[in-house]
Amino acid sequence: MRFLTDGMLGKLTRWLRMAGHDVVYVGELEIPGEKQDPYLLERAKRERRVLLTRDVELYRRAGKGGVRCLLIRGSSLPSQLREISHECRLRIEINPEKSRCPVCNGELRRKKKEEVKDLLPPGVLRGRRTFWECSECGKVYWRGSHWENILKTVEEVGR
Ligand SMILES: [Zn+2]
Repeated sequence: MRFLTDGMLGKLTRWLRMAGHDVVYVGELEIPGEKQDPYLLERAKRERRVLLTRDVELYRRAGKGGVRCLLIRGSSLPSQLREISHECRLRIEINPEKSRCPVCNGELRRKKKEEVKDLLPPGVLRGRRTFWECSECGKVYWRGSHWENILKTVEEVGR
């Protein structure tokens, strides 16, 4: 799905991207604080994105303006993901073949070890064959200890 997130939802943004969703995060754009709300409403409408916010006032304005919006009530990441999963009837699954770059929302492409060997330290390359590179910012990802934490959080969401 395509989302747009307010400035308080940076962590959630990265997770939704890893779960393969196209998320524009206003906190990454250079928009002054007071102009963020009008920008969010306009862009959500123009690009038919679901607006995610923790701001009740913005949520109300979205409703009046005909923008699809979800008010995020939970403060922990699993509870936020659960709300979205429930409201949007979405299964939150992390599959690197479909993930987007958590840092910039770019699409990831699978790479062979030979293709990334100059970019990573030997300790990371050892024992791994598959990597993913962001087509936008060039960051390289792999299954590592970080991956275990991701899967744990996804399991919590499923409960
Ligand atoms: Zn990227």
